[in-house]
Amino acid sequence: MVNQQSTLPSATELAERARAAAERCGVDLNQVSGDHDVISPINGQPLYSVAWQDSAGVDAAIKTANDAFLQWRTVPAPVRGALVKRLGELLTEHKDDLAELVSAEVGKITSEARGEVQEMIDICEFALGLSRQLYGKTMVSERAGHRLMETWHPLGVVGVISAFNFPVAVWSWNTALALVCGDPVIWKPSETAPMCALASNALLQRAIAETEDAPEGLSQVVIGGADVGQALVENPGIALLSATGSTRMGRTVGPLVAERFGRSLLELGGNNAAIVTPSADLDLAVRGIVFAAAGTAGQRCTTMRRVIVHSSIGEELVQRLKAVYERLPIGDPQREGTLIGPLINERSFTGFDAAVQQAGEQGGEVVVGGARELATEAPEAFYVQPTLITMPGQSEVVRTETFAPITYVLTYDGDVTEAIALNNDVPQGLSSSIFTSDLGEAELFVSAAGSDCGIANVNIGTSGAEIGGAFGGEKETGGGRESGSDAWQAYMRRATNTINYSGALPLAQGVNFDVD
Ligand code: NAD
Repeated sequence: MVNQQSTLPSATELAERARAAAERCGVDLNQVSGDHDVISPINGQPLYSVAWQDSAGVDAAIKTANDAFLQWRTVPAPVRGALVKRLGELLTEHKDDLAELVSAEVGKITSEARGEVQEMIDICEFALGLSRQLYGKTMVSERAGHRLMETWHPLGVVGVISAFNFPVAVWSWNTALALVCGDPVIWKPSETAPMCALASNALLQRAIAETEDAPEGLSQVVIGGADVGQALVENPGIALLSATGSTRMGRTVGPLVAERFGRSLLELGGNNAAIVTPSADLDLAVRGIVFAAAGTAGQRCTTMRRVIVHSSIGEELVQRLKAVYERLPIGDPQREGTLIGPLINERSFTGFDAAVQQAGEQGGEVVVGGARELATEAPEAFYVQPTLITMPGQSEVVRTETFAPITYVLTYDGDVTEAIALNNDVPQGLSSSIFTSDLGEAELFVSAAGSDCGIANVNIGTSGAEIGGAFGGEKETGGGRESGSDAWQAYMRRATNTINYSGALPLAQGVNFDVD
């Protein structure tokens, strides 16, 4: 692997660049200082410090947001769309600034950080169109002179809890839809990326100030850890709680929201596989696997964590992947040419290390990778080599999501149904793909008897979804859907209306209730 160590930026250089980017987005740095250091994974050094909210602050934000809701819900949806349009324009103007912050706070390579901001711009465009398409159905009534229809209304305040690895896009997926649907948003970002949140919100605040009829309190950020998130979870003033993060977090959050009969949208962990069949175009498969498995240093929910390859081509695929892995440039994510940045923190590295060891104990053999990089140059940053491990079967470690660039290679001998069974035999159900030139195999994979995941792709990898489709997964991934298609319906309440213009009062199902 190609080690780019000579160019890691100094603590001062990185912090100055991030601070300047935040200021250009409209953040007043004096207002955010506090006693919680924000550490850059690029060099393990502090960027700045921020203040954390307490639960009383969260309750006050929820009250303000509910006041804003009473006003915003009556603003026509296309006018609400104009606010999101303006947000999209400001995001376009500040694309590089936000990308700088994403890279500084979570270590993404510049191209992926810019791609994340592009997703924000894309969802604003989608939501603008949506603001004129919040359609309900009209159904035929069984009674003469009656009409049956459904209408969609704003739901209430949306609480967004986001994970570190998509520190701005997840907020925008929720916020762009929520705003056009008539809902204010309160965002609890990951504790590792607060400035990304403050900068995104500063841009939205600017758009709000420029928009007539947009009330104060439409968008708020509450900074803090799990306890601040929990204050959103437990408060009945949050109508929809959209939480993105680990399955562990979802196990706590889901039941708490359900207990108060709130609505939740859970986007949790994945354990995504690609099946490679004998008819696959291996050039395509190699490119698709390398980006999905090693990109973002393995820190996407859709990262490819398993490759299920037919034994007749297993060795060839592994050797071709190994050759590419050995050339992957690791280092400063802001340096041109780098493809693999750091892990988010030491805990993540410990998880990587433990998984490599457990895989060995469970019969695995490391083909390439498995070790730390740049430990001498940056002892407090955690760079690792993207890792391929061949496994004899789907053991415990393979069934677990380790949030690092480890991909397990499994083989199958029979037909594609054997590979599909392996794909589905894990607790998570986010993303999946098949590389094949056989139409029957491809169709089977996306059929009812195929992949059980929320995302099932053909001849592309598991990651890199577009905003136009609904995004989310099944089983321990939580079942939520956000972003495109009809995901907007989670942000609205549906009312069924029966309208009687007949002058009589016939009861449904022929019930007779006439009083003599
Ligand atoms: P995490 O679960 O540690 O934290 C996510 C967020 O939840 C943070 O803001 C955190 O403060 C908050 N949180 C944690 N415990 C909480 C609690 N008890 N109550 C309320 N809030 C709580 O996850 P992470 O390490 O930031 O992100 C990585 C994980 O997120 C991976 O498992 C990844 O697969 C998952 N993820 C899923 C998706 C998806 O769309 N399915 C997208 C991105 C990340």
